[in-house]
Amino acid sequence: MKLLIVLVAVLAGVWLWQRGRRLKHDDDESPRTGRQSTLPMVRCTRCGVHVPGDEVVVGRAGQYCSLKHRRESEGE
Ligand SMILES: [Zn+2]
Repeated sequence: MKLLIVLVAVLAGVWLWQRGRRLKHDDDESPRTGRQSTLPMVRCTRCGVHVPGDEVVVGRAGQYCSLKHRRESEGE
């Protein structure tokens, strides 16, 4: 019984160690790969194309992929 407790403790320790290592690894990756995955994709109200949140053109009636589509939709 005592052996089982030791075994469980060791397994838990290894699991926590690997979990911590994986989390740290993800942090290291984030500056390179995190930007694309965290940016919300916004759908163009005019044509339905999905564009990254930092490239979207915001208009009065919606969000667009380009100034051209905002003009076409809102007549500006
Ligand atoms: Zn568009």
